[in-house]
Amino acid sequence: MLPIFWHDLGQTADTRCMRIQHALVGLMLCACSGTPTGADGGSADASADVGAEASVDAGTSLLDTCSATVGATVPAFYKTYFRCTDLSVNGSNLVISTKGQPPYKTYYYGPASTNYASFDTSRGNQYSPNPNTIKVQSVTFNVPLTPTAKSNLTITSGLIDGVVGTSSQEYKMGSAGVAINSVIMFNPLAAPGDDIENEKYTFDDYNGHPEMTGNYHYHTTTKGPLQVLSKLGFTTATEPGTATIELYGMMCDGTLVMGCTELSGATPILTGFDAQNGHAHDIIDNNNQTLLTNRYHVHLCPTKWTSNPRKFTPEIQYYTTCN
Ligand SMILES: [Zn+2]
Ligand SMILES: [Zn+2]
Repeated sequence: MLPIFWHDLGQTADTRCMRIQHALVGLMLCACSGTPTGADGGSADASADVGAEASVDAGTSLLDTCSATVGATVPAFYKTYFRCTDLSVNGSNLVISTKGQPPYKTYYYGPASTNYASFDTSRGNQYSPNPNTIKVQSVTFNVPLTPTAKSNLTITSGLIDGVVGTSSQEYKMGSAGVAINSVIMFNPLAAPGDDIENEKYTFDDYNGHPEMTGNYHYHTTTKGPLQVLSKLGFTTATEPGTATIELYGMMCDGTLVMGCTELSGATPILTGFDAQNGHAHDIIDNNNQTLLTNRYHVHLCPTKWTSNPRKFTPEIQYYTTCN
């Protein structure tokens, strides 16, 4: 049996690349022609400034050595928690730029990289790497400092179906967010016939993987961002579900992706979540400082919250703009 998986691909005419995954050995082949897609799928998105920078070597930096520039007027929330990303303020927007280089060792840098590690096989032989290698990206988002919620949007379970193209409210395919360690985040969507639950077997031990243009990304919880919080002294534990404070990153529209805790370390109130474990309230740090006002965010905590087991990045874009 040779099922065809369309995850990480769009369903538009721009999609000219398809992967065939052998059901038994997990061997992934990729046949590309024509214009390269810029991301997990869909066409290269000009507004997200997706591209490769050949002048920068991939896989040469770790959390202690990665470069970053931070503008003086960048609000405390971003200044405090984001690492290895360039941050500035332009008018009413936070400008966040990343090269998408995970600041840790992973198989996906390839054996020539100083950041290469062997693929983690301890999770079982159903895990095997895909054939892609990380390349330097250039992704910039202009995130409103005060995002505007869409009017007349209620995020119900009917909207959360994991299938691309079933709602105009979905996040775009490809780069759709930035984790606090500078790794790019994708939405959790798969085109009909595919399932992200199959794709997960190509994740490295940080739950990341690159698509065919070398864009390494997360769809789910990961210890990578929690290692930033550990460096900053907010937690010692870094496995998802165990950290004192769990913040993963921010989607392009300003939606935060958090884990089992609020930014203060408090346990969220589980009642009142929408269908993607989202709710809006002030984001208050562990010193009782309000860093963001009434900000929508989702909480991913599948290991602890069996009644709310959502584990993937949000599917529906709550705020109006993703540029
Ligand atoms: Zn993916
Ligand atoms: Zn919350």
